[in-house]
Amino acid sequence: MLQHFFNPSSVAVIGASQNPAKIGYDILNNILQYGYGGTVYPINPKAQEILGHKAYPDLASVPSDIDLAVVAVPATAVMDVLEQCGKKGVDSVIVVTAGFREIGPEGARLENKLAMRARELGIRIVGPNCLGIIDTASALNASFAAGMPLAGHIGFFSQSGALCVAILDWALGENVGFSRFVSLGNKMDISETEIMLSMGQDENTRVILGYLESIEDGPRFMKAAREVSKTKPIIIIKSGTTSAGAKAASSHTGALAGSDHAYRAAFKQSGIIHAESMQALFGYAMAFANQAPPKGPSLAIITNSGGPGILAADACDRSSLHLTPIRRETADRLREFLPPTASVYNPIDIIGDATHERYQKTLAVILNDEFIHAVLILLTPTAAVDAEAVAREIVSLAKDTDKPIMTAFMGGKRVRHARKIFQDHAIPAYDYPEDAVGALDAMLSYRRWREQPERQYRHFDVDTSKVREVFASVVKQHRQDLVESEARQILKAYGFRLPESRIARTTQEAVKMASEIGYPVVMKIASPDVLHKSDMGGVRVGVENEAMAEDAFFHITSNIQLRQPGARILGVMVQEMIPQGREVILGITRDMQFGPIIMFGLGGIYVEVLKDVAFRIAPLSVEEADAMIRDIRSFPLLRGVRGELPADIKGIRDALLRLSQMAIDCPEIVEADVNPLLVCPEGQGAVAVDARITIQE
Ligand code: ADP
Ligand code: MG
Repeated sequence: MLQHFFNPSSVAVIGASQNPAKIGYDILNNILQYGYGGTVYPINPKAQEILGHKAYPDLASVPSDIDLAVVAVPATAVMDVLEQCGKKGVDSVIVVTAGFREIGPEGARLENKLAMRARELGIRIVGPNCLGIIDTASALNASFAAGMPLAGHIGFFSQSGALCVAILDWALGENVGFSRFVSLGNKMDISETEIMLSMGQDENTRVILGYLESIEDGPRFMKAAREVSKTKPIIIIKSGTTSAGAKAASSHTGALAGSDHAYRAAFKQSGIIHAESMQALFGYAMAFANQAPPKGPSLAIITNSGGPGILAADACDRSSLHLTPIRRETADRLREFLPPTASVYNPIDIIGDATHERYQKTLAVILNDEFIHAVLILLTPTAAVDAEAVAREIVSLAKDTDKPIMTAFMGGKRVRHARKIFQDHAIPAYDYPEDAVGALDAMLSYRRWREQPERQYRHFDVDTSKVREVFASVVKQHRQDLVESEARQILKAYGFRLPESRIARTTQEAVKMASEIGYPVVMKIASPDVLHKSDMGGVRVGVENEAMAEDAFFHITSNIQLRQPGARILGVMVQEMIPQGREVILGITRDMQFGPIIMFGLGGIYVEVLKDVAFRIAPLSVEEADAMIRDIRSFPLLRGVRGELPADIKGIRDALLRLSQMAIDCPEIVEADVNPLLVCPEGQGAVAVDARITIQE
């Protein structure tokens, strides 16, 4: 895939220059100076020879085929170059030139024209407005970056050229090797998805790293990531926000769906490791490039001081790693040589006078314990310890184990050389224990992702003709919001459980209906104009008898007349009361990039304050529905606290899956909320007592 970009037999640099102040000089110079083995053709009508290579006035005069063209001419001249490429049969072009989409509408127009013409000519383009491409395996540096990374196994793509430069410099400083570097620029043609797929196939790339500001085609991106992440970790840092779809302020889901929820959900659902900061990105890259993920969650920490050990333990507590107690046998073996004041529990504190020998013996014992899956070694540079000697011991023991070993030697001057030793021997070395724990945690989740069984999807039988009929009638009346009875019909067609309800127009009717449904009942205003019924005094729960029903009817109708004069009142809805239901909210919203998104959270009046909600992109698999229920902080409340019965989690899952199918089936739904879904105790299901649906005109 995209072979000519990474492993071309010949490269032409169009706009090659002999002036070192020009980008066209840097690019040619980079291609020539790092050992690229193919043929290089500088193209410049005004030069005979550049950097010792014969220059050609244009592509047509080059005597042989060209695999890759790197273009560094002014923006207005790029179109002409593209035509030349077409004539010459060049199929892969990197446009480093800036002055397109990023400068405004005029630049965007030029870029669109270029994209169209390139498609006609069958030419693939990286850029424009990019730094170029580096491939260490073919020793090709077709970029204007300063320096060439060491050969290694990290593939990096970036939407920001500046970040490419920064990462490159970091890599050179830390001895981190790269397989490929791709600066995406404006992504006029080739996007992150294609680069990710090509790195997935590249045998030199073991870890894929990316910096993104936007994602072009959400579903395609997710599909590619799912595929690639089954064999290679993909670590991405995402800045900026995706624009969430149209927002109706009346819906809770709309108000809660911040613009970054979509890509966060997309990352989770496609196995992408999300780095929240540059520090995390580097930290994860170092771990994944050098070590295999731990086989399980048990981590042992070895330290020569208490404080850092506690910091690491705290970080561990916030992660999915376990600081498992050291087993008796192992503890006994440690006691044989550790001083009595040492702690053989986890963190294992081998105390301030520890030498490299003590580190060595301790690590050897710990690596031998089959119940420990990973080790983190901390060191503070005490007078007793020779950090370099410790590093050498660790390197030597690391050779014979497949358990990941991480290090955080804290300090500056006295640990610098030790860190260098780690870098040279593929042992991840961090400045702080929290970073090491974070990286290990990311590796563990990645392992779990890979071991996860195939996703299961469920399909429900739906009364589709009913759904179509309701939507058609709403559209005919030029409305976007469904009234309650319409929303209920849609939910019913999708197999949601609904409370029995009827609309009473008089007090007498209300009393009669209440006794038919059976007390206690709930009474609510039935009006297409009242959005939040309880805010207007339009809801009474726990109506237990005739007198209360009469009273409720009177107060509900007069409250609405008073607080929202002019609202059309159809009557009062008398509804079966669902006892012991815990309130959750489910919703649909749409994102421009990723399409329909499903929301879940604990319902009730605090939902918008606490924002304790989880998002996933539809369609949801059974596992994803379960995962999003567990994702919210208040999940323990659903399992029941202090003697409460556990709520029916299966009922929630079922409702989420039905809603997901609805989101996929009905593209006209812009937003929907079921708020609340009342979840009964385990085994008794869940009931949708209130819903709002908004469709497109
Ligand atoms: P709105 O959201 O427009 O104020 P709801 O129909 O959601 O109106 O009712 C408000 C609250 O009343 C719900 O969040 C729930 O706590 C309670 N409630 C409503 N209907 C029922 C019912 N059938 N059974 C039990 N509680 C209910
Ligand atoms: Mg409600």
